[in-house]
Amino acid sequence: MEKAGADLIHVDIMDGHYVPNLTIGPGVVSSLRKTTALPFDVHLMIESPDRYIDAFADAGSNILTVHAEAVVHLHRTVQTIKGKGIKAGVSLNPATPLSCIEEILPDIDLLLIMTVNPGFGGQKFIAGMLPKIRKARELAQTRGLGMAIEVDGGVTPDNIGILAEAGADIFVAGASVFGSPSYGDTIARMKAILGGIR
Ligand code: ZN
Repeated sequence: MEKAGADLIHVDIMDGHYVPNLTIGPGVVSSLRKTTALPFDVHLMIESPDRYIDAFADAGSNILTVHAEAVVHLHRTVQTIKGKGIKAGVSLNPATPLSCIEEILPDIDLLLIMTVNPGFGGQKFIAGMLPKIRKARELAQTRGLGMAIEVDGGVTPDNIGILAEAGADIFVAGASVFGSPSYGDTIARMKAILGGIR
């Protein structure tokens, strides 16, 4: 993926409970870690993520993101992740309002706004998430917050421009890259669109 032009590797961890699908655990992340120098952005779509923070941090995560909906004491979880010396992210499902994590925004490094319901790749982007992205960007600006705003789900060369205009600055692209004939060309096309906006 380095050669194809990606800036980071987003790793989706699913446990078959929090989401219906099942993917990989810390062992595989640790093995993948040896294959690239790109930062690992690990997205935990799992129940009780607190139990696995140590394992995923030790496996080589650079950013560890938990779902606000899956955690009881989010502030503590965020502090635990940061205590491992890595960046902490919080993700919101499409139906979860931004207001439920407003107070914790100054503490996080990354806000991950799901633009599909988590669980499977290849879903269609939910356009109703654009106002949420705009609101998050506005909050970050008015309060001088340094968090990155990431979008995950249905990101394609056709919508990456409007997502960037709404305020997103990290874009997770799965099916639109892996389903294309050339990963490099698709990523370059997306970056060219972003370059025209910034
Ligand atoms: Zn993800």
